[in-house]
Amino acid sequence: MQEQIDGFFCFHSTCYSCRRMFYVMEGTQAYDRMKRNINALHCCEDCKNRIELEARLQLGRRLLTGRD
Ligand SMILES: [Zn+2]
Repeated sequence: MQEQIDGFFCFHSTCYSCRRMFYVMEGTQAYDRMKRNINALHCCEDCKNRIELEARLQLGRRLLTGRD
């Protein structure tokens, strides 16, 4: 849903991972992503960073052990 806060457009959505409500401000990548596909699942910055970190750790572990 689009709202206006302090003159900025923003969307708020519920994070599919932690279920918290979060806002994205106009001009950010997250805003563009949400604008393009408002009905898709979205996650907050915290979860996005955590998921990216976990993916990187998993990749690192795979490279170290040579296993999946
Ligand atoms: Zn989250």
